[in-house]
Amino acid sequence: MSGVSVLETRDDVYKTLLESTKAIPWKIDWKRMSFSYIGPQIERLLGWTADSWVSVDDWVARMHPDDRDRVVNFCVAQSQAGVDHEADYRAMSQNGDYVWIRDVVHVIREENGEVESLVGFMFDISERKKNEEELITLQHKLEQLSYQDGLTGIANRRMFDDCLAKEWAVAQRNHQTLSLIMLDIDYFKQYNDTYGHLQGDECLKKIAGLLGETKRRPRDLIARFGGEEFAIILPDTGKNAAHQLAERYRSLIIDQLIPHDCSEISPFLTVSIGVGSVIPTREGQASAFLNKVDKLLYAAKYKGRNLVVIEEP
Ligand code: GH3
Ligand code: MG
Ligand code: MG
Repeated sequence: MSGVSVLETRDDVYKTLLESTKAIPWKIDWKRMSFSYIGPQIERLLGWTADSWVSVDDWVARMHPDDRDRVVNFCVAQSQAGVDHEADYRAMSQNGDYVWIRDVVHVIREENGEVESLVGFMFDISERKKNEEELITLQHKLEQLSYQDGLTGIANRRMFDDCLAKEWAVAQRNHQTLSLIMLDIDYFKQYNDTYGHLQGDECLKKIAGLLGETKRRPRDLIARFGGEEFAIILPDTGKNAAHQLAERYRSLIIDQLIPHDCSEISPFLTVSIGVGSVIPTREGQASAFLNKVDKLLYAAKYKGRNLVVIEEP
């Protein structure tokens, strides 16, 4: 008699323990594909009463449609193979909200090896998922920031380097002309000296904004190359089109009539521009092309500034 009461006591202890944990225990009869048990805590988590979990189909139906195929196929395959497993998915609560669940599954087999039942625990992992999602958003933001110039908000040098390498490869593959514009503000040191560094910053922001407004195609990239120098990558753009665009930039900027009292060539802010075009070859290098366009920019400085210089044929 005392043996029975010990057993009863032990079962009671197990039951109490199982039904007081945050993890929700369950058991599935594999041959019938039905629930033989689910902890009553499920109601607190999802709103569905324990009684309402009858068939495996109830579990499938209460899963986010986007998770369903992946999770059901995986769990069935693992169970058939007799392998313990776990799966994360969004379970639908009675009010239509979704809760992230981690299901940890142990497969119980008969002596002949056939699967008899599955037992497991459902864990509420919504808090963890929320943190993960926040982390991913933060990482995206950080990635974006690391490609963005802090002052002007346009692409930075790092983005420029990546983009030039990428467009170089694309142009080489497609035998297309790649053009590059390098633009440098004239006498910007004097501008800072005259109007102060803060107004210098405002001026850089304004120029970046103007260049951005004239962007023609989504793949064109306008970047702050460094200091008061900007670079524009023009994929699939011929020499003439690039030259015209550079002239447009030059006149657009002087037309702003930004006062520059200490410029030696104009009462207003001006820029010098170098333009290069190339059909990249296997032997050629993007860095050599960049150097060439930089030299053209310096030729524009040398020739008197407020000028566009293109490569002589
Ligand atoms: P040039 O006509 O030959 O281009 O002469 P420059 O004075 O424009 O060129 P230089 O290279 O001598 O000077 C560039 C100046 O740009 C010096 C530097 O203080 C200024 N500069 C670079 N980055 C910034 C910035 O972020 N903000 C401000 N306000 N000034 C900057
Ligand atoms: Mg300059
Ligand atoms: Mg410069």
